[in-house]
Amino acid sequence: MTTRTTCPYCGVGCGVLATPGAPVKGDTAHPANRGRLCSKGTALGETLNHPNRLLFPEVDGKRASWDAALDAMAEGFRTALNEHGPDGVALYVSGQLLTEDYYAANKFAKGFLGTANIDSNSRLCMASAVAGHRRAFGEDLVPGIYDDLEQADLLVLLGSNTAWCHPVLFQRIQAARAAGKRIVVIDPRRTATCEGADLHLALRPGSDVALYLGLLAHLHSAGFPVPEAALEPARGLDVPALTGLSAQALATFYAWFAATPRTVTLFSQGANQSSAGADKANAIINAHVAHGSLGLPGGGPFSVTGQPNAMGGREVGALANMLAGHLEWDRPGEFEALRDYWQAPRLAPRAGLKAVDLFNAAAEGRIGALWVMATNPAVSMPAGDTVRQALKCVPMLAVSDCVADSDTLALARIRLPALGWGEKDGTVTNSERVMSRQRRFLPAPGEARQDWWIVSQVAARLGWGRHFAWKNPAAIFREHAALTGLARPANRVFDISGLADLTDAEYDAMEPTRWPVARRGELGGRLAPAARFVPTAFRAPVNAPGGDLPFILNTGRLRDQWHTMTRTGQVPRLMAHVPEPFLAMHPADAVAPDGALVRVEGSHGQAVLRLRHDAGQRQGEVFAPMHWTEAFAQGARINSAVNPAVDPVSGQPELKHSPVAVEPF
Ligand code: SF4
Repeated sequence: MTTRTTCPYCGVGCGVLATPGAPVKGDTAHPANRGRLCSKGTALGETLNHPNRLLFPEVDGKRASWDAALDAMAEGFRTALNEHGPDGVALYVSGQLLTEDYYAANKFAKGFLGTANIDSNSRLCMASAVAGHRRAFGEDLVPGIYDDLEQADLLVLLGSNTAWCHPVLFQRIQAARAAGKRIVVIDPRRTATCEGADLHLALRPGSDVALYLGLLAHLHSAGFPVPEAALEPARGLDVPALTGLSAQALATFYAWFAATPRTVTLFSQGANQSSAGADKANAIINAHVAHGSLGLPGGGPFSVTGQPNAMGGREVGALANMLAGHLEWDRPGEFEALRDYWQAPRLAPRAGLKAVDLFNAAAEGRIGALWVMATNPAVSMPAGDTVRQALKCVPMLAVSDCVADSDTLALARIRLPALGWGEKDGTVTNSERVMSRQRRFLPAPGEARQDWWIVSQVAARLGWGRHFAWKNPAAIFREHAALTGLARPANRVFDISGLADLTDAEYDAMEPTRWPVARRGELGGRLAPAARFVPTAFRAPVNAPGGDLPFILNTGRLRDQWHTMTRTGQVPRLMAHVPEPFLAMHPADAVAPDGALVRVEGSHGQAVLRLRHDAGQRQGEVFAPMHWTEAFAQGARINSAVNPAVDPVSGQPELKHSPVAVEPF
């Protein structure tokens, strides 16, 4: 039997057809991919028999019954609440969770534990774009849809190796490339995305705001209306010096942008993973507002997410600085509306700790109980060794995961087996606001259970069972959808209350659906939100290279790997693309022969990698893929060497700019 479901990897959110025993195929009826898949998607069928699944609950290193493990969890939270209060408990969750799991975790933390200390690994991915959207639109809105990428006459890919990180979008862009369509790539590295681009602007890392301030000034001089407050930071700015780009290259880009009404700027982690990430998002949005392309077919700013359900997490508010359903603490009546809807007398009164601050608090002994779901912060967080130490300081560290060999799981007191892709049931939202079903087509292995169920059982043991008494994911989805129709201010767009009365059968059969869906049958499309100009001044990255740390380290993804390789690392043909971790360095900088081992050392830790001479790197800058864990390559966790500087607005770490030393090993 064939099941229509959704790829679990990136934020493109491709529909797939899964038939046990047969290769996974692209779903021609899904609007995101229309049958296309990338190398990771086509290999999904080869990842279903994971050799190292976590199959049974464990407490203190011994197999335990679910009852015993859940009792231990509840006791751990109770003790921590008694000793530290609500600020001393926390959850760290994941863009791999389904929306229903995310909703349950967020309701448990904010509504009943009484803490907003629930953050997601999406903090590392797109928190800056969220901050930019909220400042400009008053709400976390992505205005565009994927069709805009095909319809644009000028497509600007900023901080995005689209060819590798969102491959099906890149396929769509290339297939729709008509005569006259131009592509500009803005990236310090010469990546696969630059192949065939009309212009590659290899700017100085972190200088995107200066580049877009220069664009704003150009648009103003070309007659586009720009308010003085937004223009002021551009005055006197030496854009060629700050960006390292020639005046001629800048003039070409600015002239193309000004002359092309249908222009999209697609931006991704290269913009977001920065101490000025939120300002970058707003600098991009400002330019499109001035330009008049926001909301046009083939026009506007377009943030694409890394993970399959980063958007779902944003919708249910499962980040430390958000409430459910796009409600806000500081807008009159919204806190009360959520409190009453959940009947939650302890609703968290203020924002909680964002990821880097959360692990710092753990290191300082301020977190008595921490529940990590479906993510591996010991590897993926910056200053990874420091985060490992922090995790060891938490008296009740619980981890729910589907694999048994994660670096974070190894540190946990309580280990809970969770369902993985193909085994769990719910919805995900992709980067163009399309909600799709992820459907079950495999039996649950061992005693693994879905995350929402685990949450409901812990909540019941803490006395809140009636608030979590869902019988299936459809019931959670209905509760989430109904919430979005409550206390809805006139100008808030996120509303899926038209889906709040879906029957279980209708939910099971739900077609990919773009929000907003305020009434049944209505479908969302491209948005043209009213936007505020948010003045953005250029700021250099927090830590400059120099002295003992002369190089700038940039990290990112490979084409055929996903996150910490738990799934893609099982597929020989995916591993064959890049079999081992490496450090790319310009030949003129080379500290050792091509292929030699080198030590990369930052202010917080180090990793040992194989050196690749790569003329696509700017001099003084090195690049390493982010995927490798101890299980795949000892001592090669590059995030150990990454600095934990963060954006003061979004809290997103500056993963693209860490000063490091590189020396022969
Ligand atoms: Fe999966 Fe992303 Fe590839 Fe689509 S582009 S098949 S969602 S990894």
